[in-house]
Amino acid sequence: MKVTIFGTGYVGLVTGACLAEMGNHVLCVDVDEAKVARLKNGEIPIFEPGLEPMVLRNHEEGQLDFTTDPAPAIRHGEVIFIAVGTPPDEDGSADLQYVLAVARTIGRQLERYAVIVNKSTVPVGTADRVRAAVAEELAMRGVQVPFDVVSNPEFLKEGDAVEDCLRPDRIVLGSDSEKAVAVMRKLYAPFNRNHDRTVLMDVRSAELTKYAANAMLATKISFMNEIANIAERVGADVELVRQGIGSDPRIGYHFIYPGAGYGGSCFPKDVQALERTARAHGYEARLLGAVEQVNRTQKGKLFELIHRHFDGQLAGKTVALWGLAFKPNTDDMREASSRRLMEMLWDAGARVRAFDPEAADETRRIYGDRDDLVLCEHPYEALEGADALAIVTEWKAFRSPDFERIKAALGTPVIFDGRNLYTPAAVEEAGLAYYGIGRGRSL
Ligand code: NAD
Repeated sequence: MKVTIFGTGYVGLVTGACLAEMGNHVLCVDVDEAKVARLKNGEIPIFEPGLEPMVLRNHEEGQLDFTTDPAPAIRHGEVIFIAVGTPPDEDGSADLQYVLAVARTIGRQLERYAVIVNKSTVPVGTADRVRAAVAEELAMRGVQVPFDVVSNPEFLKEGDAVEDCLRPDRIVLGSDSEKAVAVMRKLYAPFNRNHDRTVLMDVRSAELTKYAANAMLATKISFMNEIANIAERVGADVELVRQGIGSDPRIGYHFIYPGAGYGGSCFPKDVQALERTARAHGYEARLLGAVEQVNRTQKGKLFELIHRHFDGQLAGKTVALWGLAFKPNTDDMREASSRRLMEMLWDAGARVRAFDPEAADETRRIYGDRDDLVLCEHPYEALEGADALAIVTEWKAFRSPDFERIKAALGTPVIFDGRNLYTPAAVEEAGLAYYGIGRGRSL
């Protein structure tokens, strides 16, 4: 099939590559000229496991191409995806300017029936606004072109995006048009060979499903962080509590890890946006507000532990950070907990030496060259001359370090484990002080 995708970010590029891989002809449009030039040149602007070879192969074979020109792209696609960003507005609600700009562009160029598919995460009612924007442009041209708008929220996880896209848990389709649903079923048929993963519903329910999923996941994290903070005060170890509750199949072991708070481009903005949507409809979503608040506090947790350990004397100290990305297997730094920690350390007069397997370039892009930040090529290089080590992202490479080597390198041997990667006793046996999250010994 012929597919057009607006937006070549994490969602658009991965979706484009996976649809091309299944034999479709995919044309991706982006307003970012530099990004499109790099993609046409075979450079992949983001790190996502498995993405690069898939993009390169399909681009070489003519299945996947990139453009900044929307006109040929709109002529090309029988299915036109909108996968542009929906960042938070000043008040935390979703900023729809990019989604609606694409809708208007489509309306200005559309010449034959197309299914317009919204993949961006958007508040309930956005499909209606997209439909109205397209219709308005068509009316201004004085033409009548049939089209349908489908809500098809994306559930891929950064770090596993290609795998999630090729083998989705579910394909949520929100539509009241049989014709559009038939087109979408045909497009997704290769992903449904093992069993039908389609969950068909009305548009508004589909839009809310995405927010509900992210809000539920964020709630699990904030819930565990709440328990961790209680555990810390009562002298219990939240890691034992986690295993104790996860054994109940109604709870399960997935996604109940306490830590230094959630980040990324989705959870923080989506929880906030859902809360604002609720408020706009006269409902105070108190649980969502609490989830957000717990997370905000939790992102300051590592700093609090470090500050307390050094009796507030952080000026002139150097802290080594292992992990900068908001989670492993990505280079994405949006809302990363490391950013809050680094900024608090700098404010307190401390310096940072950091290592991340993928996010150094992005960190450099955000913070530029500064005297109080050294980005290192190797985890142990980050320890040179440092007074403490903080684990911020749970990359696999950090799971079993050489504690003797850490101890030898650090001025005052101490580890602040923001992801509870280590067993406290094992670290202490090696002669290092240990602070974790909710491990009943942090006070
Ligand atoms: P992103 O910021 O990585 O990419 C968005 C892209 O859209 C950018 O390259 C930007 O230049 C482009 N763009 C903006 N306006 C455009 C226009 N008018 N025409 C063409 N391109 C335009 O964003 P992302 O992370 O891919 O997220 C996209 C959407 O998907 C968001 O709504 C997000 O909430 C949602 N989502 C993201 C994830 C994720 O893990 N990143 C997962 C599920 C859903």
